[in-house]
Amino acid sequence: MATLTLASAFWWTINNRLTVTSTAVAPNPIIVIDPGHGGRDPGAVGITGVWEKEVNLAVSLTLSNDLRKHGITVYLTRTTDHTVNRTGPYSVRNDLLARSAFAKQHHATLFVTIHSNIEPTHSMQGPIVYYDSDSSASLQLAVEVSQAIHSLLGYNRPPRPINQLVLEDSKVPAINIEIGFLSHPRDSALLITPSYQYTLSQAIASGLLRYLSQGDYRTG
Ligand SMILES: [Zn+2]
Repeated sequence: MATLTLASAFWWTINNRLTVTSTAVAPNPIIVIDPGHGGRDPGAVGITGVWEKEVNLAVSLTLSNDLRKHGITVYLTRTTDHTVNRTGPYSVRNDLLARSAFAKQHHATLFVTIHSNIEPTHSMQGPIVYYDSDSSASLQLAVEVSQAIHSLLGYNRPPRPINQLVLEDSKVPAINIEIGFLSHPRDSALLITPSYQYTLSQAIASGLLRYLSQGDYRTG
């Protein structure tokens, strides 16, 4: 989570200018969106054969366009079908760490990773928002996004805590949005539909913007 350190607070006091290089004091909110999986890692395979990595990317691209229309600076860890870790040897762990490193390099105010679920009973539907369990700011972010999803899509699910390397290592308020269940026939069909991807993105964007509008992201 973003924290204004004593040193940077002191620097601010004596200089009274917003030129502190600390990532904690972003002059404008920056959202890093991470489309889960990619390249050699397809993620889950849906009931219709759709790959999670493709659905995650489509929704992430739509979400980033929506946020940019609201004046938010957005960076994506990938915009095409590839792994994010491209320098060292590939491993799931290295790929996850490359994603959180990307968030830090781009001075993220918030980090949002986008995934899709599967489960064996084929009965569960709809998004679930997970948050970094060590961060109260991440919980608050997840509450806003869950409430926006409830308002726009009708799914009433409280956010769930999770211990996830990519969230924890981003060092800012961080959530993992599981956008639906590829194991469910209806979700699987909806998630590849541009109109549903758009509605879903609007709900997520609305929650993110609501969180940012409260301004407490500056102090974590
Ligand atoms: Zn995934």
